[in-house]
Amino acid sequence: MTIAENEILPRRVLVASANHGKLQEIAAILGGVGIEVLAQSEFHLGEAAETGLTFVENAIIKARWAAARTGLPAIADDSGLEVEALGGAPGIYSARYAGPEASDQANVDKVLREAAPVPDDRRQAQFHCTMVYLRQAADPSPLIAQGVWEGRLLRAPQGRNGFGYDPIFYLPEHACSAADLDAKTKNRLSHRGHALRQLYALLCARYRLA
Ligand code: IMP
Repeated sequence: MTIAENEILPRRVLVASANHGKLQEIAAILGGVGIEVLAQSEFHLGEAAETGLTFVENAIIKARWAAARTGLPAIADDSGLEVEALGGAPGIYSARYAGPEASDQANVDKVLREAAPVPDDRRQAQFHCTMVYLRQAADPSPLIAQGVWEGRLLRAPQGRNGFGYDPIFYLPEHACSAADLDAKTKNRLSHRGHALRQLYALLCARYRLA
Protein backbone atom coordinates (compact mmCIF):
# COMPACT_ATOMS: atom_id res chain seq x y z
CA MET A 1 0.00 0.00 0.00
CA THR A 2 1.31 3.43 -0.89
CA ILE A 3 0.06 6.77 0.35
CA ALA A 4 -2.57 7.95 -2.10
CA GLU A 5 -3.15 11.65 -2.61
CA ASN A 6 -6.85 11.16 -1.98
CA GLU A 7 -6.57 8.70 0.86
CA ILE A 8 -9.78 8.45 2.85
CA LEU A 9 -9.92 9.20 6.56
CA PRO A 10 -10.74 6.01 8.48
CA ARG A 11 -14.05 6.08 10.35
CA ARG A 12 -12.83 3.79 13.10
CA VAL A 13 -9.40 3.33 14.69
CA LEU A 14 -8.37 0.78 17.26
CA VAL A 15 -6.29 2.03 20.19
CA ALA A 16 -3.92 -0.69 21.33
CA SER A 17 -3.92 0.14 25.03
CA ALA A 18 -5.70 -1.06 28.14
CA ASN A 19 -5.16 2.30 29.86
CA HIS A 20 -8.54 4.01 30.20
CA GLY A 21 -7.01 7.47 30.62
CA LYS A 22 -5.02 7.15 27.40
CA LEU A 23 -8.11 5.93 25.52
CA GLN A 24 -10.15 8.88 26.67
CA GLU A 25 -7.46 11.41 25.70
CA ILE A 26 -7.15 9.87 22.23
CA ALA A 27 -10.94 9.57 21.78
CA ALA A 28 -11.41 13.24 22.72
CA ILE A 29 -8.98 14.51 20.11
CA LEU A 30 -9.92 12.11 17.26
CA GLY A 31 -13.66 12.44 17.97
CA GLY A 32 -13.31 16.06 16.86
CA VAL A 33 -12.64 14.92 13.29
CA GLY A 34 -15.27 12.18 13.31
CA ILE A 35 -13.03 9.19 13.99
CA GLU A 36 -14.51 6.63 16.37
CA VAL A 37 -11.98 5.16 18.78
CA LEU A 38 -12.30 1.48 19.69
CA ALA A 39 -10.54 -0.02 22.69
CA GLN A 40 -8.36 -3.10 22.29
CA SER A 41 -10.17 -4.61 25.28
CA GLU A 42 -13.34 -4.90 23.14
CA PHE A 43 -11.57 -7.50 21.01
CA HIS A 44 -9.85 -9.85 23.52
CA LEU A 45 -6.61 -9.85 21.57
CA GLY A 46 -4.17 -10.69 24.33
CA GLU A 47 -0.94 -8.75 24.61
CA ALA A 48 1.86 -8.35 22.10
CA ALA A 49 5.36 -9.30 23.33
CA GLU A 50 7.32 -6.04 23.58
CA THR A 51 10.56 -7.37 22.13
CA GLY A 52 11.88 -4.10 20.67
CA LEU A 53 14.86 -2.20 22.04
CA THR A 54 13.37 1.24 21.47
CA PHE A 55 10.09 3.00 22.21
CA VAL A 56 9.33 3.26 18.49
CA GLU A 57 9.87 -0.46 17.86
CA ASN A 58 7.60 -1.42 20.74
CA ALA A 59 4.88 1.03 19.72
CA ILE A 60 4.91 -0.41 16.18
CA ILE A 61 4.87 -3.99 17.51
CA LYS A 62 1.77 -3.18 19.60
CA ALA A 63 -0.06 -1.39 16.78
CA ARG A 64 0.82 -4.09 14.22
CA TRP A 65 -0.40 -6.83 16.56
CA ALA A 66 -3.75 -5.09 17.00
CA ALA A 67 -4.16 -4.25 13.30
CA ALA A 68 -3.31 -7.81 12.24
CA ARG A 69 -5.91 -9.31 14.54
CA THR A 70 -8.76 -6.91 13.80
CA GLY A 71 -8.19 -5.64 10.27
CA LEU A 72 -8.57 -2.10 11.63
CA PRO A 73 -6.16 0.83 11.51
CA ALA A 74 -4.42 1.03 14.88
CA ILE A 75 -2.77 3.54 17.21
CA ALA A 76 -0.35 2.44 19.91
CA ASP A 77 2.13 4.15 22.17
CA ASP A 78 5.13 3.19 24.21
CA SER A 79 6.55 5.35 26.94
CA GLY A 80 8.88 5.43 29.88
CA LEU A 81 11.29 7.34 32.07
CA GLU A 82 14.95 7.89 31.24
CA VAL A 83 17.35 8.92 33.99
CA GLU A 84 20.57 10.26 32.52
CA ALA A 85 22.79 9.28 35.47
CA LEU A 86 21.47 5.71 35.21
CA GLY A 87 22.50 5.43 31.55
CA GLY A 88 18.92 6.00 30.39
CA ALA A 89 17.34 3.37 32.69
CA PRO A 90 14.60 2.36 33.25
CA GLY A 91 13.80 3.41 29.63
CA ILE A 92 11.77 0.87 27.66
CA TYR A 93 11.74 -1.35 30.76
CA SER A 94 9.91 1.28 32.85
CA ALA A 95 6.75 -0.78 33.41
CA ARG A 96 8.71 -3.90 34.42
CA TYR A 97 11.86 -2.40 35.96
CA ALA A 98 11.58 -4.25 39.29
CA GLY A 99 10.27 -7.46 37.64
CA PRO A 100 7.66 -8.74 35.15
CA GLU A 101 4.56 -7.86 37.21
CA ALA A 102 6.18 -5.13 39.32
CA SER A 103 3.99 -2.53 41.02
CA ASP A 104 4.51 1.21 40.47
CA GLN A 105 5.80 1.38 44.05
CA ALA A 106 8.40 -1.35 43.47
CA ASN A 107 9.61 0.34 40.26
CA VAL A 108 9.85 3.73 41.97
CA ASP A 109 11.73 2.21 44.93
CA LYS A 110 14.25 0.58 42.61
CA VAL A 111 14.94 3.82 40.71
CA LEU A 112 15.31 5.77 43.98
CA ARG A 113 17.69 3.13 45.36
CA GLU A 114 19.88 3.14 42.28
CA ALA A 115 19.88 6.93 42.04
CA ALA A 116 20.64 7.46 45.74
CA PRO A 117 24.37 8.16 45.11
CA VAL A 118 23.61 10.59 42.25
CA PRO A 119 24.24 14.19 43.36
CA ASP A 120 21.55 16.89 43.07
CA ASP A 121 23.13 18.56 40.04
CA ARG A 122 23.10 15.29 38.02
CA ARG A 123 19.50 14.19 38.53
CA GLN A 124 18.11 15.14 35.11
CA ALA A 125 15.32 12.84 33.87
CA GLN A 126 12.96 12.72 30.90
CA PHE A 127 9.70 11.02 30.12
CA HIS A 128 9.46 9.81 26.51
CA CYS A 129 6.41 8.81 24.53
CA THR A 130 6.28 7.47 20.99
CA MET A 131 2.83 7.17 19.43
CA VAL A 132 2.29 5.49 16.06
CA TYR A 133 -0.54 5.03 13.59
CA LEU A 134 -0.66 2.06 11.22
CA ARG A 135 -3.30 1.91 8.46
CA GLN A 136 -2.95 -1.88 8.39
CA ALA A 137 -0.57 -4.50 9.79
CA ALA A 138 1.74 -4.33 6.75
CA ASP A 139 1.73 -0.52 6.52
CA PRO A 140 5.25 0.40 5.31
CA SER A 141 5.01 4.05 6.35
CA PRO A 142 3.48 4.43 9.81
CA LEU A 143 2.89 7.89 11.22
CA ILE A 144 5.32 8.32 14.14
CA ALA A 145 4.99 11.04 16.78
CA GLN A 146 7.36 11.66 19.70
CA GLY A 147 6.98 13.62 22.91
CA VAL A 148 9.56 14.41 25.59
CA TRP A 149 9.02 15.90 29.07
CA GLU A 150 12.06 17.22 30.93
CA GLY A 151 12.34 17.10 34.69
CA ARG A 152 14.49 16.03 37.62
CA LEU A 153 14.50 13.00 39.84
CA LEU A 154 13.34 13.59 43.42
CA ARG A 155 14.80 11.69 46.40
CA ALA A 156 11.39 10.70 47.81
CA PRO A 157 7.86 10.48 46.35
CA GLN A 158 5.73 13.64 46.42
CA GLY A 159 2.09 14.18 45.33
CA ARG A 160 -1.01 12.01 45.11
CA ASN A 161 -2.16 12.13 41.46
CA GLY A 162 -1.01 10.37 38.32
CA PHE A 163 0.64 6.96 38.16
CA GLY A 164 3.98 5.24 37.62
CA TYR A 165 6.97 7.50 38.22
CA ASP A 166 4.95 10.73 38.54
CA PRO A 167 5.64 11.12 42.29
CA ILE A 168 9.43 11.20 41.77
CA PHE A 169 9.43 13.40 38.65
CA TYR A 170 10.04 17.01 39.67
CA LEU A 171 9.19 19.97 37.41
CA PRO A 172 11.43 22.93 38.31
CA GLU A 173 9.33 25.50 36.35
CA HIS A 174 6.23 24.46 38.27
CA ALA A 175 7.96 23.76 41.61
CA CYS A 176 6.03 20.51 42.03
CA SER A 177 6.09 16.84 41.02
CA ALA A 178 4.09 15.38 38.11
CA ALA A 179 1.90 13.74 40.78
CA ASP A 180 0.98 17.19 42.14
CA LEU A 181 -0.61 18.18 38.80
CA ASP A 182 -4.29 17.74 37.96
CA ALA A 183 -5.00 15.53 34.92
CA LYS A 184 -5.73 18.44 32.58
CA THR A 185 -2.48 20.24 33.36
CA LYS A 186 -0.52 17.01 33.05
CA ASN A 187 -2.03 16.36 29.58
CA ARG A 188 -0.99 19.84 28.49
CA LEU A 189 2.62 19.41 29.62
CA SER A 190 3.37 15.72 29.32
CA HIS A 191 5.31 13.62 26.83
CA ARG A 192 2.07 11.78 25.98
CA GLY A 193 0.11 14.99 25.43
CA HIS A 194 2.83 16.28 23.09
CA ALA A 195 3.01 13.00 21.16
CA LEU A 196 -0.76 12.81 20.82
CA ARG A 197 -1.07 16.36 19.50
CA GLN A 198 1.80 15.71 17.09
CA LEU A 199 0.13 12.51 15.85
CA TYR A 200 -3.09 14.42 15.34
CA ALA A 201 -1.19 16.99 13.25
CA LEU A 202 0.34 14.18 11.17
CA LEU A 203 -3.10 12.63 10.61
CA CYS A 204 -4.46 16.04 9.58
CA ALA A 205 -1.61 16.48 7.11
CA ARG A 206 -2.02 13.01 5.61
CA TYR A 207 -5.80 13.24 5.29
CA ARG A 208 -5.93 16.95 4.46
CA LEU A 209 -8.00 17.89 7.50
CA ALA A 210 -8.35 21.31 9.10
P1 IMP B 1 3.51 1.92 28.67
O1 IMP B 1 3.92 2.89 27.64
O2 IMP B 1 2.03 1.95 28.90
O3 IMP B 1 4.10 0.57 28.43
O4 IMP B 1 4.09 2.45 30.05
C1 IMP B 1 5.42 2.34 30.38
C2 IMP B 1 5.69 2.70 31.82
O5 IMP B 1 6.37 3.95 31.82
C3 IMP B 1 4.50 2.88 32.74
O6 IMP B 1 4.11 1.69 33.35
C4 IMP B 1 5.09 3.83 33.78
O7 IMP B 1 5.85 3.11 34.71
C5 IMP B 1 6.03 4.68 32.95
N1 IMP B 1 5.33 5.89 32.50
C6 IMP B 1 4.97 6.21 31.23
N2 IMP B 1 4.33 7.39 31.19
C7 IMP B 1 4.28 7.83 32.46
C8 IMP B 1 3.71 8.99 33.06
O8 IMP B 1 3.08 9.84 32.42
N3 IMP B 1 3.87 9.08 34.39
C9 IMP B 1 4.51 8.16 35.14
N4 IMP B 1 5.04 7.05 34.65
C10 IMP B 1 4.93 6.87 33.29
